[in-house]
Amino acid sequence: MKDTFTHQGMRKKLVKILEKKGIEDKNVLSAIGKIPRHLFMDSGFVDHAYVDKAFPIAADQTISQPYTVARQTELLEVKKDDKILEIGTGSGYQAAVLLEMGVRLYTIERQNELFKKTNLFLPKLGYKPKKMIFGDGYIGLVEDAPFDGIIVTAGAPFVPQPLLAQLKVGGRLVIPVGDDIQIMTVFYRKSETEFEKEEFGEFRFVPLLEDKN
Ligand code: SAH
Repeated sequence: MKDTFTHQGMRKKLVKILEKKGIEDKNVLSAIGKIPRHLFMDSGFVDHAYVDKAFPIAADQTISQPYTVARQTELLEVKKDDKILEIGTGSGYQAAVLLEMGVRLYTIERQNELFKKTNLFLPKLGYKPKKMIFGDGYIGLVEDAPFDGIIVTAGAPFVPQPLLAQLKVGGRLVIPVGDDIQIMTVFYRKSETEFEKEEFGEFRFVPLLEDKN
């Protein structure tokens, strides 16, 4: 598990690319500048770690494109110590970005192979979520709700109502909604009963799966 000057130099370039693509949140850019993304990928792909592309990880899943991670994190508007729920732990890269920004993180993964791998890997890099759960993101995490923010990192065919219900008033849900192509959607909870919805363009994600294998 090495992070060399070469990797660090490549990361600086990646941060510049993300800035050019419109990412403005300095805390997001600084987190991406620090995290050794190549260590989250299988060794064969290490050379591709700092281009702005999604890549395959285990269990037919992908590590999201850096721009997508940056944009979703920016839209979540996190502050230090916020209580955040992530749906789709995957490689743990998005989780690392959030932890680097000082949040209290709860994260759910529904594929056991990925859950086990990332559960061991993240703490080795010094990233410690409050809870990593093998479970179904459609139902959220009622026992730890409410959350300041919820981020869904797989394409949701519809908006799971439990996730809206588990937001604090003033909190936000960032979720890509759609089947083949998803619209990045933010739901802002204005009161117990009112939500404001805003859309932020098209993205492509692997699907949020509905039943467990
Ligand atoms: N945040 C991840 C992105 C991984 S891709 C990263 O940074 O690498 C999306 C992940 O969502 C996959 O790991 C997939 O297994 C997981 N997933 C799919 N359906 C899910 C569900 N219903 N509940 C929780 N996780 C789910």
